Amino acid sequence: MDTDIDRLIVFDTTLRDGEQAPGCSMTDREKVRVARALAELGVDVIEAGFPAASDGDFESVRLVARTVRGPIICGLARCGGKDIERAWQALQEAERARLHVFIATSPIHRQFKLGLSRDEVLRRAVEGVRAARALCADVEFSAEDAARTEPEYLADVIAAVIDAGATTVNIPDTVGYAVPAEFAERIAYLRENVSGIERAVISVHCHDDLGMAVANSLAAVQAGARQVECTINGIGERAGNCALEEVVMAVRTRADRMPVRTGIDTRRLAATSRLVAAVTGVAVPRNKAVVGENAFAHEAGIHQHGMLRNQETYEIMRPEDVGLGGSRLVLGKHSGRHAFRSRVEALGLALDEAELDRAFIAFKTLADRKKEIFDADIEALVLRSDETGHGPWSLAALRIRSGDGARAFAEVELQHVEGTARRESASGDGPVEAAFRAIERATGIEAELKSFDIRNVTVGEDAQGEAVVTIAQGGRIWQGKGFDTDIIQASALAFLQAVNRICARQGADAAA
Ligand SMILES: [Zn+2]
Repeated sequence: MDTDIDRLIVFDTTLRDGEQAPGCSMTDREKVRVARALAELGVDVIEAGFPAASDGDFESVRLVARTVRGPIICGLARCGGKDIERAWQALQEAERARLHVFIATSPIHRQFKLGLSRDEVLRRAVEGVRAARALCADVEFSAEDAARTEPEYLADVIAAVIDAGATTVNIPDTVGYAVPAEFAERIAYLRENVSGIERAVISVHCHDDLGMAVANSLAAVQAGARQVECTINGIGERAGNCALEEVVMAVRTRADRMPVRTGIDTRRLAATSRLVAAVTGVAVPRNKAVVGENAFAHEAGIHQHGMLRNQETYEIMRPEDVGLGGSRLVLGKHSGRHAFRSRVEALGLALDEAELDRAFIAFKTLADRKKEIFDADIEALVLRSDETGHGPWSLAALRIRSGDGARAFAEVELQHVEGTARRESASGDGPVEAAFRAIERATGIEAELKSFDIRNVTVGEDAQGEAVVTIAQGGRIWQGKGFDTDIIQASALAFLQAVNRICARQGADAAA
């Protein structure tokens, strides 16, 4: 291996920053599934959450630390208070742990958020890092809103935290304000003006408010940053974070410009992207770089002609490099458990034996109704077999009747995990609305419908439909996804999943 090529550390924060985004909340079971997929993908660090934020967050970080092997598991903590100890407790069972402490350093955050002077912020940063270092050898420090912090002051803070024991220093563009040349200058400035900078890894964490998260991250890498913080599909607060798949494929494709390599198995990018889209219910846009459905689709005849002669005429990456392409037709009615398992594994869906059993039963049922089972069908049914873990209610039956004119009637039968069954009916302007109303009545949860989308997961007359429902309740946004060959059934399942998430959160809050 070429020793001149530095390792670029891939720090994934899908489970922390990504999960914080509206509509992206995940259950513990989903978080573990995503964390396992990230480990398979080869990320170096998984930021599993912010343990002091709530008891639920604490538990999910603990679960990931206990069950996921390979990457370093990181927990976020504010400087000061009980945050650091709490984060450390959550990480106890990790194979390798990292404590990540942060404090805001920009003038606007110092004045309006913290009400602290420069000196006080610096003092707290140092104290936080010392406290973390007393517990853990691997300590990352983040200067929140670093991109808008005075360069000289930022250099002082970074020098002081390295002195206090920080092994990684993160320079976030928290509000997505920086432009690439400026951000590169900031990194270069710190490399020149921070004494002891060579003892720490410089990291960056960029937001996409102006669509420059990936560009800013790459500019920072060219200027010497050796860790990038990113999320799958770029999910995250507001416009999101730097997209992992884009930054990884950029450094790989343009190795001539960026002398770094990552430990990512790029062939798993597409599967990981689909998994995160499925568990969050936040779809990947068709034209999304690297993992979008159209990322490798060539429509124009003149392009196709060129492609047939030489793939490189219009393609800078090969679809197979990111895990796309090849035959998507995989299994059918006569496929056995062994074939099913190997396909599930190839799709990056790490299942335990009980999960595999449930998914295989669902596969057999689907294969009776549908001739050809595609990869997307398998992903859908595996995630659907998880739904029991989402909350207390499951859909036992759904009956639709068309009334006079446009009115429709729906009757639902719901089963509660504790044994009770409830049957309710309602009318609506169409069958989908009627089904939603009946579910609201049966569960006693009223929510405001924000959006509702339906699309085919696969092709053919017997294609599975995917419904995505976004609802608002109690000042929060909740998403649900449902899959079925019947789109009204898929819609009801999606709505019920969102309602289940509300119930699960209410249960967690009540227990806390
Ligand atoms: Zn962030």
